[in-house]
Amino acid sequence: MGSTTDFRCKQCHALLAKHDAGGLCIRRGDLQATITGGQFTVSITCYRCKTLSVVTSPSRAFAPQTAA
Ligand SMILES: [Zn+2]
Repeated sequence: MGSTTDFRCKQCHALLAKHDAGGLCIRRGDLQATITGGQFTVSITCYRCKTLSVVTSPSRAFAPQTAA
């Protein structure tokens, strides 16, 4: 425990979210969201370059997917 994983935009490497023991934390300006639970998939549009990134739950590891 205690490990935090940064999730960055695959295009420009802007920091989009962080995984830690408590779940996935997304911060963007005044907005903060934390997503918990066993399995989830979250799509985040990069605030910088507008590239869509997909985050899946940590148990399945990051699976960068290209948007259809
Ligand atoms: Zn980006």
